[in-house]
Amino acid sequence: MLPSLFISHGSPMLALQPGDSGPALQRLAAELPRPRAIVVVSAHWESQELLVTGSPAPETWHDFGGFPPELFAVQYPAPGNPQLAGEIVELLHADGLNARIDERRPFDHGTWVPLSLMYPAADIPVVQVSLPSRMGPALQTRVGHALASLREQGVLLIGSGSITHNLGELDWRAGPETITPWALEFRDWVVDKLAANDENALHDYRRQAPNAVRSHPSDEHLLPLYFARGAGGAFSVAHQGFTLGALGMDIYRFG
Ligand code: ZN
Repeated sequence: MLPSLFISHGSPMLALQPGDSGPALQRLAAELPRPRAIVVVSAHWESQELLVTGSPAPETWHDFGGFPPELFAVQYPAPGNPQLAGEIVELLHADGLNARIDERRPFDHGTWVPLSLMYPAADIPVVQVSLPSRMGPALQTRVGHALASLREQGVLLIGSGSITHNLGELDWRAGPETITPWALEFRDWVVDKLAANDENALHDYRRQAPNAVRSHPSDEHLLPLYFARGAGGAFSVAHQGFTLGALGMDIYRFG
């Protein structure tokens, strides 16, 4: 059975400058059985309601600005999987969650950047599930539970966000050896609570975790972690690190 994963996707430049994350993602992909499909909840698809990509061939969306033309040239032509998208909607309905297909949604960079490093051939179908971010962590845990059974059917479930994400406090000249103490303290708290399987504390992270609001001025980049945790099994750390001083690059495995 496949695990679920939480991936910190970093800056979009990760696609061209993979740093330590590239080898970690390649190692992970090599360790896992080859999935028949991949389902991603990305921080970059916030929505009011739960939506599921239904296109058979989603486009690669360069949903950012201010990066070099080489990055806008990167394509990730993985197919979609309309049949799996329909099954996902049914699983969500069975759990009492409203959801519907979005036929037109392309892949955002929270999806294609890490997948371009894990599965560069882009030959495994990918379906995205949106992030109703205003509903907070508990909904994501529930969505994870609702889709967990797909892991037994060869589907890799991924939450793609960032373990810390305060773009206003990044040092764009800092290398991986520079780690900002408040971001580290927050990251370590989350890892402790994941290891202790303390769901109540994790759901209440904005009040309980040190430097929570500073680490996540808005919480859409942390929420995919709850999807991955809800969908998966036992927690382990696959990779840890920081880039740009305060941007956590951790990757976690559940199961
Ligand atoms: Zn992002």
